[in-house]
Amino acid sequence: MNKDLIRYSFPIIIIGLFLHACSQPEPETKSTTPNIVLFLVDDMGWQDTSVPFWTETTEFNKRYRTPNMERLAAEGMKFTQAYATPVCSPTRVSLITGMNAARHRVTNWTLQPNELKPRETDHPEFEFPLWNVNGVSPEAIPNAVHATPLPMILSQNGYRTIHVGKAHFGAINTPGADPQNLGFDVNIAGHAAGAPQSYYGTKNFGNTAEFSDSPWPVPGLEKYHGQDIYLTEALTNETLAELDRTQQPFFLYMSYYAVHGPIMANKKYLQHYLDLGLDSIEASYATMIETMDHSVGRILDYLDENNLSENTVVLFMSDNGGLSAIARGGEPHTHNKPLASGKGSCREGGIREPMLVRWPGVVQPESETDEYLIIEDFFPSVLEVAGIQQFDAVQTIDGQSFVPLLKGDQISTASRPLFWHFPNVWGPSGPGVGAFSVVRQGDWKLVYYHFDQQYELFNIRTDIAEASNLAMEHPEKRMELAAILANYLKEVDAQMPINRETGEAVPLPG
Ligand code: CA
Repeated sequence: MNKDLIRYSFPIIIIGLFLHACSQPEPETKSTTPNIVLFLVDDMGWQDTSVPFWTETTEFNKRYRTPNMERLAAEGMKFTQAYATPVCSPTRVSLITGMNAARHRVTNWTLQPNELKPRETDHPEFEFPLWNVNGVSPEAIPNAVHATPLPMILSQNGYRTIHVGKAHFGAINTPGADPQNLGFDVNIAGHAAGAPQSYYGTKNFGNTAEFSDSPWPVPGLEKYHGQDIYLTEALTNETLAELDRTQQPFFLYMSYYAVHGPIMANKKYLQHYLDLGLDSIEASYATMIETMDHSVGRILDYLDENNLSENTVVLFMSDNGGLSAIARGGEPHTHNKPLASGKGSCREGGIREPMLVRWPGVVQPESETDEYLIIEDFFPSVLEVAGIQQFDAVQTIDGQSFVPLLKGDQISTASRPLFWHFPNVWGPSGPGVGAFSVVRQGDWKLVYYHFDQQYELFNIRTDIAEASNLAMEHPEKRMELAAILANYLKEVDAQMPINRETGEAVPLPG
């Protein structure tokens, strides 16, 4: 156990003993421990919903149909400034470890074991650090972050832990590739890959001779092969069947493959969006959102019908911003407006997510908070919701619980710095795409680009579109945030790209 962890655990143990000594009668029994349902949608943008997350209702809010998200918003709390990382694996690893990406070093998306991505090895000017390409691991192995995963702690504390859909926690053939090695009792259709080969049961979700060497075919749904069923619907069927079998309390991690590419229409919803005048790609994308929302509704209905809703906390989140640089209809970098850019970018469009939480008896219905949070905060928050005060984890935890916000406590997050770190190459280009480190504190956001060591400074409150770079106008703020960012990167021993010509690592900001 490292020193940080001892510092972290000691007061909690003391408080725990104190509470235990003071509380009469005995603490709540297992039957009132809440069930937890965490909906994690893949690549869903902040505006990909009929729930308005901005101060204005946008064209996107009018386009998309997500009545079940509206239901969660009416019955729960809307978070208007909830953040993830710009791509899949870093978010997922932060969620189940409580660590910031700069610390866990799974800074890019994982697939092949033990190697950098070709575009990272082929870069003409920069050499890239060997980040934790193997993802997260419950045991110490090379090129992976060794951590005690959230589902393992929940499982050790009596939860039935159910994984459904996209996992994408570890590279192929590493322990983290299988959710059951990370503390999930059940795994439905999750593995190393972060996208499906096909959304169609008629195409066996990609399990055909044509793709026999591909990593993308979805495993474990053989009974639906050949059927006219959409992947999201098959996952929902399997989830409800599993809930019928499960004991309480349960942790359902409902991790949709949707709305990640390949963009493939659910034909039963398509005509409506074509009639709106959308091109076939955007109409197809809209059906993926509607199908996901319909699944959320089926699960909420199940909770109602089985008298589980009152004792179930429901969280809804996405893992990065909406795809916008490639593979979408219309003009690139516009699909998350008023936010700039999208997936892969450090602009708000790449990292700000639609987040909702319903907790009957605790969260005020139809409430809203503008306080910000980041994905690693889910780790301590879920443990607090579960009432787990003492646990052993091998990692140092960066996340902070947002449960006080759920309880309506008037607290301000404005002094807390949030960090993003991506010393990597994503692929497509666009605003805010590249190797970068970022800090947000209060209304201010500083971006430091690794390749040219330039800065961008935005006031997010007055300029949500990040249109005005104030780095020259406010040098004092730029320097203040650069120092905060540099100190953090130093503290967590963050990796940086190396200039091939000089052999030197890119200097820290400031
Ligand atoms: Ca994603």
